[in-house]
Amino acid sequence: MKPKVAQRIRELPPYLFARIDELRNEQRARGVDVIDLGIGDPDLPTPPHIVKALQAAAEVPAHHRYPSYAGMVETRRACAAFYARRFGVTLDPLAEVVTLIGSKEGIAHLPLALVDPGDLVLCPDPGYPVYATGTRFAGGEVGLVPLRRDHGFLPDLAAIPADVARRAKVMWVNYPNNPTAALAPRGFYDELVAFAREHDIVLASDLAYSEVYFDEADRPGSILEVPGARDVAIEFYSLSKTYNMTGWRVGFAVGNRELVGALGKVKTNVDSGVFEAVQAAAIAAVGGDQACVADMRATYRRRVDVLCGGLARIGLDVIRPRATFYCLVQVPSGTTSLDFAGKVLAQAGVVVTPATGFGAGGEGFVRLTVCADEARLAEAVARIGRIV
Ligand SMILES: *Cc1c(COP(=O)(O)O)cnc(C)c1O
Repeated sequence: MKPKVAQRIRELPPYLFARIDELRNEQRARGVDVIDLGIGDPDLPTPPHIVKALQAAAEVPAHHRYPSYAGMVETRRACAAFYARRFGVTLDPLAEVVTLIGSKEGIAHLPLALVDPGDLVLCPDPGYPVYATGTRFAGGEVGLVPLRRDHGFLPDLAAIPADVARRAKVMWVNYPNNPTAALAPRGFYDELVAFAREHDIVLASDLAYSEVYFDEADRPGSILEVPGARDVAIEFYSLSKTYNMTGWRVGFAVGNRELVGALGKVKTNVDSGVFEAVQAAAIAAVGGDQACVADMRATYRRRVDVLCGGLARIGLDVIRPRATFYCLVQVPSGTTSLDFAGKVLAQAGVVVTPATGFGAGGEGFVRLTVCADEARLAEAVARIGRIV
């Protein structure tokens, strides 16, 4: 007898990245020295002062007990202080901040707080898959909003049909963007907040890459900087990419108190918060010296020069990122994202991600990360150059 899993699990679209993993493992098994530019996971270690804060906090018995659901008051104060310094946004630490077990956890759970069966949630296409999966798990309906290269990979608000805007309950935005690396100009956020207020839509902003930018002029803002945003918006902040902390599982959400409170209520019922020693490390990260963040940016900037400069020299149409650690490459005409990624892996031993893994709107592109050192990136360019 085979146990029968729920409809929502059976309905999940096939996970494209699992197929890529299989192909990569096949190449490795054949002895190929595979260069993996597929994963969006920093290769550099967490800065030592953050690791030390965890070590010290792990010794304190009080931290061994259940944490508070919403996060320690000190943690939420540190997050609010960070938002005040970084964005000029003032937050009430107790009502407008909730800690998360990584921002992905909060992103996946938000629909449980806001979405009733049949409610419409607007998700970017291509986009981080968790927006749509979380929506479906809550019984919501996904409305895809295309992000096109000729529109700066920004949603075209004027092209959203009136009945869709009327029905929509939540809209996800993510700038700097994964997988396109696009930035949102401040004017876009102004328009977006006006649109959301007009149509009574909750804005859910995923700010995972706010600190991964390469030019001070491009320094990303928070949607909460826009007057009136606090009436309609919740924003997800991740420590993962900023401080090389993907393994630690800590992030936080800020914004409208009803929205933050509702997400907190979901969490009260499904998890027990973030290990307090990890919260102490998070305080050290957001409250400590930010020189490590500047170093991170400098490292990625040099790597982007190597990878994007190299890919452009071998004749590929590469979009040089001004933020994030992703480079989007338009695949040669007559081929698909998946075919091109398969060819690059089979013939060059380089893993790249077909952008269709982020939705049908990613067709025509593959995504490469700079989460490998400059020598490996140069080697990847050389190998790809031999096959295109
Ligand atoms: C990496 C990433 C996150 C999640 O990071 P956490 O480790 O869960 O904090 C969220 N959104 C996007 C777009 C990402 O790429």
